[in-house]
Amino acid sequence: MPTRVALIAHDHKKDDIVRLTGEYVDTLRRCALLATGTTGGRIEAAHGLNVERMLSGPHGGDLQIGAQLAEGKVDVVIFLRDPMTPQPHEPDINALVRACDVHDVPCATNISTARMILDVLTQRMKDVV
Ligand code: PGA
Repeated sequence: MPTRVALIAHDHKKDDIVRLTGEYVDTLRRCALLATGTTGGRIEAAHGLNVERMLSGPHGGDLQIGAQLAEGKVDVVIFLRDPMTPQPHEPDINALVRACDVHDVPCATNISTARMILDVLTQRMKDVV
């Protein structure tokens, strides 16, 4: 079973997640990716990765990812939040991060943590080969 990685970035963080996923494209190609709508579209367009796209975040995409996570279908969340801009769907964002804590799923909310998690995934794949 491939590792299931959820990818989400707020608008001011979308360039960051495109750059980050580009750095780890070989690792991510071997994962099953899901993402909120706009984030997923950007990543697909930039890197040709196969991404299962949910609704856009403000329309319920974070909740859809949270629901899958609660069912044990998400292994890692990379969620580049924008701490400087109020979001209309703040309750959904909090619900997703809370679900990660409830179910003990690794959740990176900034690039440094995301890199650490992706480095671990990369290393594990090397160990398997
Ligand atoms: P988006 O959603 O990828 O559809 O922009 C992200 C968010 O705002 O939670």
